[in-house]
Amino acid sequence: MAKFVVTPANEEQRAAWQSRVAMPEVERVRPGLWSIPVPIPINPLRYVLVYALELPGGVVIVDAGWNTDEAYRALCDGLSVAGYSITDVKGVLVTHIHPDHYGLAGRVRESSGAWIALHPADANLLHDRYDDGAIDALVEKERRILVRSGVPRLTLDELAGASMMIRHMVSMAKPDRLVEDGEALGLPGWDLRAIWTPGHSPGHLCFVSPERRILFSGDHVLAKITPIVAVHPQSGPNPLADYLDSLAAVRKWDVDEVLPAHEYRFLELAERVDHVMLHHEERLAEIEAVAADVASGISCWDIATRLTWSRPWETIPPFMRRSANNETLAHLVWLESRGRLRRIAGDVDLWVPA
Ligand SMILES: [Zn+2]
Ligand SMILES: [Zn+2]
Repeated sequence: MAKFVVTPANEEQRAAWQSRVAMPEVERVRPGLWSIPVPIPINPLRYVLVYALELPGGVVIVDAGWNTDEAYRALCDGLSVAGYSITDVKGVLVTHIHPDHYGLAGRVRESSGAWIALHPADANLLHDRYDDGAIDALVEKERRILVRSGVPRLTLDELAGASMMIRHMVSMAKPDRLVEDGEALGLPGWDLRAIWTPGHSPGHLCFVSPERRILFSGDHVLAKITPIVAVHPQSGPNPLADYLDSLAAVRKWDVDEVLPAHEYRFLELAERVDHVMLHHEERLAEIEAVAADVASGISCWDIATRLTWSRPWETIPPFMRRSANNETLAHLVWLESRGRLRRIAGDVDLWVPA
């Protein structure tokens, strides 16, 4: 794939990301807009970029961070650099329900009385928490996905147990406000609009300011990495189709700068979107070719082990192999939906050329 490299909006922020150790600075991005890096525990992404938007008498933040004391302190300290305290937070606009974005929102509300806003499709994923045994049911669903993918029995327990994400999701605060696609958020001084961008998460939202020509992209579009788009118990039925549509939905906006939740800010939205689309097209072609190679049919897991990953398959830790399997499955489901592959359903589903 021809390499396209985005232009960082701030070279120092990019350098901090690249260093793998340094935290970027709390930064005034523009008048009335701040970027606050909030650490994520034991994760190679290292931090979430929380954005604080100044309003008369306070701020609204985009995303909140992971629910740890360290993250809460970093958020409070960052706000004080901007001249605010946690009690000045009027609202939390959450891009999606993942714990590095939503985890801390409840605590911010407790401290400040802020509202919490989320898309209904992600809010729906929370309701399970009120049922006893909800987590067990989700883990069981995940197990079924892995079994039908053809994950070997010995590997299964190792993989199915790695459900940290699910556990965190079912212990989170309820939102006060549901935000729909295209909704104008009505923040004084801001012409901010929500763009529903399902794929990475069913209710993922981006926020665009046409006047300021900026896009808050959450995990949907990032400078270097691509977000995980996978079939799992809380995904949509065809998450890759959603994701590719959502890429097209943000590409329409003519903006000067993309403000993502990880890594660093950058300039070229359309080119980056095209590059990510191309990446998935190549992945789809690779998966189709592997499936075409075995006339009798091949399982999702066996396909996953044959693909090129960023490191040798044997060295990938269990929870990442599970993601790899479920990402492969998202591509298979997409190929099936376009009539390029056929699924032979069974105890283990096998994939053959259509
Ligand atoms: Zn995420
Ligand atoms: Zn994230």
